[in-house]
Amino acid sequence: MPRPRSPDSQFDFWPQRIFVEELDARAIAGERTRVQAMYKVRYERDGGIHQVFLDHHGWYCAEHGPACSAVREVTARREGVSPS
Ligand SMILES: [Zn+2]
Repeated sequence: MPRPRSPDSQFDFWPQRIFVEELDARAIAGERTRVQAMYKVRYERDGGIHQVFLDHHGWYCAEHGPACSAVREVTARREGVSPS
């Protein structure tokens, strides 16, 4: 007999998609902003949006600070695209 497979448990293990969008920091914060980079991170299931910034303090999420998982998403993608 085949084991029954629950679509719900499959869904649990399916990695959610994470949408990372680079924003124009100067367009949003002004020409004199110290923000070097600004990203919008959206998790498919959470629904919330994280705004991730890079400035002279380093990377941080506007709501959750530097420890936010959205920060890791952005930095991982940047390292993948342009290693330095
Ligand atoms: Zn966050």
